[in-house]
Amino acid sequence: MRCRLHRFPLTKAVPLAISRGTTTAVEHLLVELEHDGVTGLGETGGFDTGHRRHDTEAIAVELEAIAPRLEGLSPEPLQVLDPLLAELSPPARCGLDLALHDWWGRRLGQPLHRLWSLDPGACAATSVTLGLAPPAAVLARLERWWAQLPASRIKLKLGSPDGLDHDRRLLEVVAGAIERRRQATGGPCELQVDANGGWDLPAARFMLEPLQRAGVVLLEQPLPPLAEPERDAAGFAALRPHCPMPLVADESCWDLPDLLRLAPHVDGVNIKLLKSGGLAEALLMARTARRLGLGVMLGCYSDASLLNGAAAQLLPLVRWPDLDSHLNLVDDPFVGLELRGDIVMPASAPGLGMALRERLGEPC
Ligand SMILES: [Mg+2]
Repeated sequence: MRCRLHRFPLTKAVPLAISRGTTTAVEHLLVELEHDGVTGLGETGGFDTGHRRHDTEAIAVELEAIAPRLEGLSPEPLQVLDPLLAELSPPARCGLDLALHDWWGRRLGQPLHRLWSLDPGACAATSVTLGLAPPAAVLARLERWWAQLPASRIKLKLGSPDGLDHDRRLLEVVAGAIERRRQATGGPCELQVDANGGWDLPAARFMLEPLQRAGVVLLEQPLPPLAEPERDAAGFAALRPHCPMPLVADESCWDLPDLLRLAPHVDGVNIKLLKSGGLAEALLMARTARRLGLGVMLGCYSDASLLNGAAAQLLPLVRWPDLDSHLNLVDDPFVGLELRGDIVMPASAPGLGMALRERLGEPC
């Protein structure tokens, strides 16, 4: 098979600020795998969880180095490629894993969710994200989302560098806006909070009561992820007995071993393809989490709709979809991902079901 790599820019319509900083634009990579007249597409890019960071440039170097070794190989059976994929960092593996899965589905003429026998009618609404900003700007962002889609799940980022008073003020104004929305529409609307590791244990404990009072239905990654696995799990264990709403691990949970380590101390995990290294591990994680009685969240970074379309193939297994990044891009190069109300649907075309809007420039 032949592997080609393209770089492309992604620019946010509204910059997103979280506890670790603000993102306005990123560069991502398109992986094209061609074999036997079929081309599979994959997307990857850099990201940062606070304790581990991957840069797009380093991912490109990894993929360029492995491309010549793919030339004598076939995309199937996938199992033969496992040792080679295991050499790569999670995001480099993700780019290749997505292109391989896309090739496989296209070769068989079926979308992945059908090959996995998942029910596309079982998908839940996605949350939409409100970044950190002054209260008036956060309310304006919420109104902008509601002008774009009938969002019934709102994810508010907290853990502000401006401190807990600012977090409490944001919580109050957003909870108020959601209550007014419920009364005006008569429909459901829920508030989730993601602190992105922006609190320490006393701050997180202090925030539990205001979160409960604001009707928050879910708390994601209150404490910073720690490189030392036992200490990281101990943070969740210390908070969970006091936490009145489901506690979800994101930055602390990359792969299946993380999920198994954290399972006794959380109510759910946020799976992201760039952390897991692609769909093979993510499918295993989603099925295992459900078997263990954990809720599955499926999230994104500053991803285009190819990455989110790949993740969408897993949505029938997901309680809390969080795939809104492509809805906030001015230059998404891909088409094929459908939104029904506020439900992101797994595409029904073969493979990941996604296509390039127009050809990108020359391979790098
Ligand atoms: Mg998160």
